[in-house]
This record gives sequence, structure tokens and C-alpha cells, in this order.
Amino acid sequence: MPESQKMPRIGVLAIQGDYEAHAKALEETGAAASLIRRPAQLEDLDGLILPGGESTTMLRFLDREGFFDALQSFARQKPVFGTCAGAILLAKDVRNPAQRSLAILDIAVERNAYGVQRDSAILELETTLPGGPLETVFIRAPRILEVAPSVEVLAERDGFPVLIREGMTMAATFHPELSIDRRVHRLFVESTLLANAAIQLR
Ligand code: GLN
Repeated sequence: MPESQKMPRIGVLAIQGDYEAHAKALEETGAAASLIRRPAQLEDLDGLILPGGESTTMLRFLDREGFFDALQSFARQKPVFGTCAGAILLAKDVRNPAQRSLAILDIAVERNAYGVQRDSAILELETTLPGGPLETVFIRAPRILEVAPSVEVLAERDGFPVLIREGMTMAATFHPELSIDRRVHRLFVESTLLANAAIQLR
């Protein structure tokens, strides 16, 4: 990273789920990671990861201290990356069952879409990211059913998007933090640097 670019400060929502693995992945990608448990901690961040876990449990926690509203306004201004349950939190339309969400990404998701037999899997998928196929770890994953034209699809499973980007917001229905490959986290860290540069130009 050039010296003129300072290390981005990226938070990981640490209510529940595999936030430690995300923090480690961010550090390996050249970002300064911090675990976020209170809305006031969002203030100095350049970006935020919403990890996997159980979206319903996370929502219940977010009802405290105005955390839901703080997160929503953060996500409207800065890069946020949601994985699995985090992707569900970011989606505008949540089904099976319907659930409240931050409504940042113009996508429709179906929770627990892969049924009991196929609910967890490790697959090698084609991706538009340079560097060849990507290992993807799915755990009781949601399925992205619909995306708006403004959504860029970076990888698919059986014709359904699994890694997407809309503006500065990213989502994956798999768990990139559980693989050794750091391409997905690197892409997110780069988008926080770009967003920062754009904010400074304003
Ligand atoms: N099934 C979970 C949900 O609906 C998501 C699973 C995950 O994050 N690994 O919130």
C-alpha cells in the first residue's frame, strides 16, 4: 500500500457469529480491524463488515441503543460488506420468512434456501475476480433470488448470485473469512480506500 494511503479502519459487527475470523482476514489484507459492539464505535470507521450468524438474533440486539438506525445511516454513507446473515441484513427484500432489514442493497433474498441435505457445502466457483476459481464455504446460506440492474454479480452458484456489489456495498452468501484466499476481503478493503478518496474530494 503506498505510504500516502493510510490504513483503512474497518469494523466488524461483533454481536454474534464468526467476527474474529473476519477481523483476522482484514488484518491479513492490510486493514486495521476493530470489533464493534456499540453504535458510538461506528464513528471513526472507514467501512464495516456484517458477519454471518443468525440474522434474527442480530436484529434483536440491534434494537438496543438505536444501533439499527445508526447502522443504517452508516451503510448509506460508507462501504459495508455483509456475509451470509450480514447479506440478509443488507437486503431490501427478505423472504422465508419475511424479516425487517437495513434495506441497503436492491436484492431479494430467501433465508435458509438450500434445504437440510444441502445446507452446507464447500464449492469452487467461477468468479469475475482475477485469479481463477474461488473457494466458497456455504453454511445454512441464503439465496439471492433477484437483483436490480444496478447490482454487479461477481460469482454465481447454480445461476444464483453469491457475491455481489452495488455501489460501495458488497454482499456474499458464503463465508470468505473461512477460506485462505483473501481476494474478497481485499476487494472490500480497496473499496473503502476508494470511498475515502471520494469523500476527501467532495
Ligand atoms: N441462516 C442464517 C440466517 O438466516 C444465516 C446463516 C449464516 O450466516 N451462516 O440468518
